Amino acid sequence: MTKIPQRGALINSEKGLQNSLLTFLKKAAEKKLFDAIMLPMQVPSGDSFAWILIKDMQLLDEATPIAPIMPVNAAKAVKRLTRKGEGSSKIAVLIKPCEVRACVELAKLNQIRTEDIIILSYDCLGALPMQDYIKDPVWGKQEFSAILESKNWNSQFVKPVCKICDKFSLSASDLHFGIIDEQLLAIANSEKGETLLAGMDMKADQELENWKQYIRKIRTKRLASKAETFEVIKTKVAGFANLLDTFSECIGCHNCQSACPICYCRQCYFDSAVSKPNSDVVLMRAEQRGGVSLPLDKIMFHTGRMAHMSLSCISCGLCSDACPVNIPVAKIFSYVASETQKTFEYTAGESFGDALPMKEYKPEELGELGKLVQNAEIQEGGHE
Ligand code: SF4
Ligand code: SF4
Repeated sequence: MTKIPQRGALINSEKGLQNSLLTFLKKAAEKKLFDAIMLPMQVPSGDSFAWILIKDMQLLDEATPIAPIMPVNAAKAVKRLTRKGEGSSKIAVLIKPCEVRACVELAKLNQIRTEDIIILSYDCLGALPMQDYIKDPVWGKQEFSAILESKNWNSQFVKPVCKICDKFSLSASDLHFGIIDEQLLAIANSEKGETLLAGMDMKADQELENWKQYIRKIRTKRLASKAETFEVIKTKVAGFANLLDTFSECIGCHNCQSACPICYCRQCYFDSAVSKPNSDVVLMRAEQRGGVSLPLDKIMFHTGRMAHMSLSCISCGLCSDACPVNIPVAKIFSYVASETQKTFEYTAGESFGDALPMKEYKPEELGELGKLVQNAEIQEGGHE
């Protein structure tokens, strides 16, 4: 469980969220509290955003700390930065709570190193769906600014998974920016965070009770919407016939997999030669069933992914953003993930300290296995 800090430092937020965050980061850069910072920046064409590792701090003026869309989950960028091991620079990254959670999961899978990284996060009001933004970036920028300005936690325009996200606040970052009405609070959540605040000469002298209550209220509403959504999604994935129906429009492009920060295997079975049978095998399958749908193995692909990564899915919604045929992949994976994680009493991305269930050996599980073997033997005996 994340230990909730008791106090935070008040930040002047008169100039709005984006400007207040930029002012904080510029000051931290001037004080050399980090050597570089990774932030979203609008691409020159103006219709998307990219992660930029900023070394020349003048460029901070061009950054958008809270981008309206999430084309790439930041954990993928952090993975590229850190996977070769420890470096000699301190890098700050300002990312959303779902991106922090993805970083936590990848760190447990030894794909991210966090020693050199200072993770900064903020209470997230959501992101717009990629397809909507790309259709009309001018509308997207205006709508998103309005969401931030009015602190609209229930916008109809954000991604479907953002509308049901209950983990939009403090997670395992080093420093978190808490939003409450017109206030912005800097909340240190680790030693690195405390050092950063101290380096900024800021005192954590504000009680956090009001902020906690504010977040609790939003979370309660989100949990109710989530439960409603999951009731519907449950019917779409229960049993093979429903799965087949739900994924009937899938074109097998595997975009959902490429966009997913959690798909962690270095060599994917579905990209390998083994997963691509020759025409004789395909014809044999067609002969057995009368015909086969092409591309092959669409349900196996999705159930394979569920089996592989639903313990670590952090409901970022990137898979839905990437789907060209609008299958609600993110809601489906979020639902399956919540069930898998409940079974293992695990919450993906909550804390660096919780071991990944699949990586941890528990002697009592051997007992469970023993019971399964025993039951199987009894059943076998019964058939003799
Ligand atoms: S399955 Fe979808 S929602 Fe879950 S982590 Fe991957 S991209 Fe995000
Ligand atoms: S992105 Fe959509 S169409 Fe492509 S494989 Fe995933 S579910 Fe199927």
